[in-house]
Amino acid sequence: MQKTICLLPGDGIGPEIVAEAVKVLKATGDKFGHVFNFTEALIGGIAIDKCGEPLPQATIDQCKAADAVFLGAVGGPKWDHLDNAHRPEKGLLGIRKALGLFANLRPAKLFPELAGACLLRADIAARGLDLIVVRELTGDVYFGEPRGIETRDGKRVGFNTMIYDEEEIRRIAKLAFETARKRRNKVCSVEKSNVLDVSRLWKDVVLEVHKDYQDVELTHLYVDNAAMQLVRDPAQFDVILTGNIFGDILSDEASVITGSLGMLPSASLGATAPGLFEPIHGSAPDIAGQKKANPLATILSAAMMLRLAFDMGKEADAIEDAVRKTLQQGYRTGDIMEPGKTLVNTEEMGAKVIENL
Ligand code: NAD
Repeated sequence: MQKTICLLPGDGIGPEIVAEAVKVLKATGDKFGHVFNFTEALIGGIAIDKCGEPLPQATIDQCKAADAVFLGAVGGPKWDHLDNAHRPEKGLLGIRKALGLFANLRPAKLFPELAGACLLRADIAARGLDLIVVRELTGDVYFGEPRGIETRDGKRVGFNTMIYDEEEIRRIAKLAFETARKRRNKVCSVEKSNVLDVSRLWKDVVLEVHKDYQDVELTHLYVDNAAMQLVRDPAQFDVILTGNIFGDILSDEASVITGSLGMLPSASLGATAPGLFEPIHGSAPDIAGQKKANPLATILSAAMMLRLAFDMGKEADAIEDAVRKTLQQGYRTGDIMEPGKTLVNTEEMGAKVIENL
C-alpha cells in the first residue's frame, strides 16, 4: 500500500520526536511492504517566524492533500508574549477546524513495566488502567456563541455559551460505540445532566444512538463523579464518551495518573478529511535540542495512525509490541528513568524500537 503523510514537526522537541517516528514508520513499511511518502509543512512558532502566522494556507493545503497528518508539538516561551489570536497554539485549533476533526481519541494505558510511575496507590494500579477518552472537539463552550467580555451595569462580565446540536452529539456517540466494539464493548457517557440543559440533550441523543449498538454496555456518569472514579477505580472504564470541555479535563486527568506524559499518543478524526495524530504532551522547551525527549508517545501515535487511518492493524500491533519489548529490556529516557534501568537518549530509544520491530 502507498500512503502520503504530511509531517508537522512544529516547535521545541517536535522535530526530534517526529524524526524518530518517521524512522519507525519507514522500518514498518519495509517490513510489511508498504511505501510511506512524507511531505512536511510549517505550524506553530516556526510558522510564525517564517511566514508571520501560526497556520499558513500552504500548510492547510498540504494537510488536505495527504492521507494523514502527523504532528510533533507547538509553542514555547519565545512566542508567549503574543496575544491569543497569534500564538502558536492557534495553529493547532486552526488545523483541527480546517480538517473538520470533530473527535479526539486519547488512550490512557498503564504499561506494567512503568507501574512504578503511576500516581495511584499500588493496589489500584494493580487492577490496571487501559481506557480511551473519546472527546468531542469542535463544539461546546469553547466555540459557542455568543461569547465575550463586556460591561453591564458598570460591571465587567465574561460569558461563553455551552451548546451542542443533536447531529454533533450523534456523530461523536457513534464513534464512541464503534471504538468500544474494537475494545471491551463498554461506553460510559459523561455529562452534567442534573444541572445543564445541554447535557440533558446529550444524554437523550446518546440513548437514541445506543439503540443501534445494543451489544455495547452503556453507562452514564456526571462529570464530577467521573473525575473521582478515574482516581478511585480507573479499571472500570473502557471508552469514556464526553464533550469538549469535560473531555479536555478528564483526558488530562486520565493520562497524568499513568505518570508518563512521554508515553501517551492521540488521534483526532473527522468524517472524511485526513486524521491528525500526535503525542499528547507539548513542546517541552526545557529539554528541547538536548536529545532528552522521550519519542515513545510519538511512535505510539504513529501506530494509532496506521490502525485508524490506514486500517493497518497488524503493523500497528508490531510497533506497540516493539515499544513494550524495549521497555521490558529496561531502556528508559530520563522522564521515565528508574534505578537499575538503562538511560538512553531520543535517538537511541528510536533505534531500540526499530531493532525490536
Ligand atoms: P509540556 O508537555 O511541553 O511539558 C511538561 C513537562 O513534561 C516538561 O517538564 C517537559 O520536559 C516534560 N515532557 C513533555 N514531553 C516530554 C517528552 N516527550 N519526553 C520527556 N519529557 C517530556 O507542557 P508545558 O511545559 O506546559 O508546555 C510547553 C509548551 O508546549 C507551551 O508553549 C504549551 O503551550 C505547548 N503545548 C503544546 C501542545 C501541543 O502541541 N499539542 C500541548 C501542550 C502544550
